[in-house]
Amino acid sequence: MVKKSPYELMQLAVDIVNSSEHPSNKVAAVISGRDSGGEGFNLAHTNFWPETIIGKIGIDKRIGDTSGTIHAETACIIKSPGTEGAVICVTDPVCPNCAKNIVEAGISEVYIDHKGFDKDFVNRRREYFQTMSLHICKKAGVPVYKIWRKDRRIEALIGFGETEEFRTEKNFYINSNFTCLDSLASLQMVQRKEDFAIAIGEKDNEIVALIAESGLVYGLDNNKRFPRIKNDESKYNYIIEPLSKPTFLPLTPL
Ligand SMILES: [Zn+2]
Repeated sequence: MVKKSPYELMQLAVDIVNSSEHPSNKVAAVISGRDSGGEGFNLAHTNFWPETIIGKIGIDKRIGDTSGTIHAETACIIKSPGTEGAVICVTDPVCPNCAKNIVEAGISEVYIDHKGFDKDFVNRRREYFQTMSLHICKKAGVPVYKIWRKDRRIEALIGFGETEEFRTEKNFYINSNFTCLDSLASLQMVQRKEDFAIAIGEKDNEIVALIAESGLVYGLDNNKRFPRIKNDESKYNYIIEPLSKPTFLPLTPL
């Protein structure tokens, strides 16, 4: 497959953005990367409501303090055959939750369409993007660019030189020959303080258990203070929940 430029990739997102089911906030993203066999792929997706949410909760209800939609960039990560080193292009600035998913998934570069910065919704959420999303990407070493497709122009919001190389241990591990009951028993014994999730599945023809704990998003240092915004509605934080960890993606369910 011929590798596409960020301009061409962004066009793939723009091409499908109006197919989003969202009545007012239509967003699309494209992920370009390699699958486990080294084969290149481009995958485009809009924001969407999962079928189970539509069927059991409905699209008008809020879940906690958020809507039930999966954001476009997270949809790309979930549906992608491989995320490590992939590039993501999004029509709108990323929210802090998607920024967390992006860095946990090992995405190498993020491009955001310049038009996404003009929308009303973004103006209301701009501070979250500037203060939290960019901080998360910077600390994880993920450059973020603003892109003008038609003018073929790119501006670094965080450039390669500005990203920090700080890398923390990812808080998950793979253990073969490990049953779910064993996992639960050992977890109870150590009395973990953080939330955790376990998935049992198949990887490379082996049964494995993956355990993910909630914790600071990849790249953030426990001993440092993180930027907060004024009048924070506490909608976002710097913790990644166990079930949001893309750790579980390589597993084939049993
Ligand atoms: Zn988001």
